[in-house]
Amino acid sequence: MSATLFDADAWRERMDERWFETGKAMAEKGDVDLVAIEDDRVTAHVTGSVGDLYVVELRAPAGDGACTCPGFEKFGACKHQAAVVAAANLLDATGRQYVQGRLARLRDGLALEDKTALIERIVDLSRKHPAVLAELER
Ligand SMILES: [Zn+2]
Repeated sequence: MSATLFDADAWRERMDERWFETGKAMAEKGDVDLVAIEDDRVTAHVTGSVGDLYVVELRAPAGDGACTCPGFEKFGACKHQAAVVAAANLLDATGRQYVQGRLARLRDGLALEDKTALIERIVDLSRKHPAVLAELER
């Protein structure tokens, strides 16, 4: 497992060079939280320049990508995607394994809780996070 996950050159060509470099710097600064690597699908939470959290999903090595930021909606590409490409490519084998197992470990941990405790946690999350409340009330 030595090859990098993403084809960085292909992603670089999709966006303004400055966005790509900014994204790389964000990755090096630690603004990317890699949430999951499931086959070729990588999911990450990226902290934007004003502290907003964006959700990025990319297909490796150079497949589809999406981000919840306004820039992606406008231009179809953004620095957050570049940040995720850079962060994922910086992972060593141990780091990649950690991210690959992250949601499974979360699932295993949740499976140990009883239903009432899980419901209380979700209600509490809904109280604190408007997006969670909105999703659950749909
Ligand atoms: Zn974005």
